[in-house]
Amino acid sequence: MTGPDTQQRCGFVAVIGAPNAGKSTLINALVGTKVTIVSPKVQTTRTIVRGIAVHENTQIVFIDTPGIFRAKKRLERAMVAAAWNGEAEAEMTLFVIDASRRQPDDENQQIIATLKDRKAEEPGRKFILVLNKIDNIQREKLIDLTMKLNAMMDFEATFMISALKEDGTNDLLKWLAARMPEGPFHFGEEQVSDMPMRLLAAEITREKLFHRLHEELPYGLTVETESWEQFDDGSVKIEQVIYIAREAHKPIIIGRGGQAIKGTGEASRRELEDILEQRVHLRLFVKVRENWVDDPERYRVWGLDPGA
Ligand code: GDP
Ligand code: MG
Repeated sequence: MTGPDTQQRCGFVAVIGAPNAGKSTLINALVGTKVTIVSPKVQTTRTIVRGIAVHENTQIVFIDTPGIFRAKKRLERAMVAAAWNGEAEAEMTLFVIDASRRQPDDENQQIIATLKDRKAEEPGRKFILVLNKIDNIQREKLIDLTMKLNAMMDFEATFMISALKEDGTNDLLKWLAARMPEGPFHFGEEQVSDMPMRLLAAEITREKLFHRLHEELPYGLTVETESWEQFDDGSVKIEQVIYIAREAHKPIIIGRGGQAIKGTGEASRRELEDILEQRVHLRLFVKVRENWVDDPERYRVWGLDPGA
């Protein structure tokens, strides 16, 4: 039974930072040998789970915040809103910065400004500064940078690490584990369901159709992911059905000689490959289903705000 020293802890840690800061490398290092479960790139209702680390009795779920500062399209904005929701629900936020470059650069200044706003809204929030790539910087410069960044914002702690060399990453993991709230593990030993990812994938295809067809987009059109098959070579086969309300809409979706649907499929596949970071075989089918209304509630199923 659960005694005081077997009490489980579990919490979410959001990892933010500019592209190339080393977020993925860091998450991989933290998840590393300590893992009992690795489920990279699993879409949850909050945001994208990049990895789950287990340290003694503590499970830490790392969530990534893709493209958080560069959203333009509606879907992207919805994803960013979800990412910030994920960040808000996380116990802590790691802000990863590439210390081997001149910092803070414009992008990081912008991130810090955003973080300061978040902290002002919620003074209790904990932000951890992670100076990465210290294998590539002189000691004095590192200390200067630490002082400069801490003067800009009040961080709970500062870690100096090399995610690549796994230098300092274990200390960071231990530190985080000690600060996770008590509670049961969120994820079991088995593979985490990919169901929410299917919804996201369907939404991406719908978005591509929308871009292609604009106001020609048939009323009642919807996309569903029918199957999702992982292959040993690291690729995934995704089959989706584009449902339309009337047979007469078929030629609009398919286009002359199948050109339209081919273009849609290619655009969707490229974006999916970007998000999943794996090769994607995407097959699209068009079927007629009458009385189908495109329901904005679909967004809420996976925790996205359609008005974002
Ligand atoms: P992300 O875009 O923030 O997820 O960054 P990545 O984890 O993809 O890393 C971007 C690049 O930085 C990759 O080429 C990594 O190998 C490299 N990198 C990450 N961590 C370190 C580090 O500690 N030291 C060095 N020298 N390179 C690193
Ligand atoms: Mg990455």
